[in-house]
Amino acid sequence: MNSKPNIYHIVLDGYSNNHGLNTFYAFDNSKFTKNLKGLGFNIYSDATSPYNQTLPIISSIFNMEYSITDATSNRFLPPKSIMSAWGASPYGGIVADLLKSNGYNFTFTPSGYGFLKFPDNISTSKKDLKSHITKNYFITEYLNSLWWYKNLHTPNNKELYKTTIEAFLDHSYIKSKKPIFYYSHILSPHPPFDIDIKGDFTQKYSNFSSINDGSHSTKMDKDLIKEYKSGYVEKIKFSNEYIINKVNNIINNDSNNKIIIVQGDHGGGSEYSQESLESSCLQERYKPLLAIYSDYKLESSEENYTLVNIYRDIFTVLSNQNFEKLETKTYYLPWGLPEKITPINIVTQGTCPYKT
Ligand SMILES: [Zn+2]
Repeated sequence: MNSKPNIYHIVLDGYSNNHGLNTFYAFDNSKFTKNLKGLGFNIYSDATSPYNQTLPIISSIFNMEYSITDATSNRFLPPKSIMSAWGASPYGGIVADLLKSNGYNFTFTPSGYGFLKFPDNISTSKKDLKSHITKNYFITEYLNSLWWYKNLHTPNNKELYKTTIEAFLDHSYIKSKKPIFYYSHILSPHPPFDIDIKGDFTQKYSNFSSINDGSHSTKMDKDLIKEYKSGYVEKIKFSNEYIINKVNNIINNDSNNKIIIVQGDHGGGSEYSQESLESSCLQERYKPLLAIYSDYKLESSEENYTLVNIYRDIFTVLSNQNFEKLETKTYYLPWGLPEKITPINIVTQGTCPYKT
């Protein structure tokens, strides 16, 4: 790399773009994006997620490549191992390898999602990484087999709430050795809808007190979808204030060259079915928020910009190498069945019956 800016990457899980929020949630979020623009962010208003689920999306971003394109990819791995490997990509993918070989220091905030669990000390050895993934997988499996552990993770516990608030308030990057790669994956506005507009714990949205998203929580029922939309918008309003504070703090505390990415991995899941592509609102699910602050001139945002190209564009600017842009493609994966992957067209397929 010719230039080594500090890189801050914040994922707000499930955060839709302005068009989606207007169309499906009757919520005008333009004040927030205007605030980001005022801080120097470029808004990619037509960004597209490659998949419908967090982990293959995150893996595609951090490997700069589509993580799965057909049933034969990863065919030797059981679904949960694939998920563990995908979830490890922020510290074990190609982007991480490039940054590590350029002397970057890594800092993560806890996400609260089992498959996005990050090690405290980033090892550079592939062998150690593999053992971390395997250990994580077996620990998660083991814990889920214990009734009391599962019980601890039933609705109304405050663990996730606390993790989310702490991630928004985390400023550990100030003390970290530079150059830094800081990754903060925050479960917001993704369910549970346990945070009210002021940031206080709420049990108002009683059907959405777990991490379940889409049809796993709405059952595609009209009234539950309505409740989802209310809880989601309230969590977005809270997130907006906290995230503006967070990026403001980064900008004020770091006078070095930097790149700050604030994005949804995918959009909201109010009209999203985990099992059926045809009953999912693809325009809601595949259209996330993407905003990038960069002290280097990145190519301006274009139509239908795939998240897979984020680091291709960044490394093209920071190095001598040209990382060619990949074509924008979209795929649907039924829950737990990545081998049933289907290439899709998000314009002509799917359905959005509860447009507001
Ligand atoms: Zn997600």
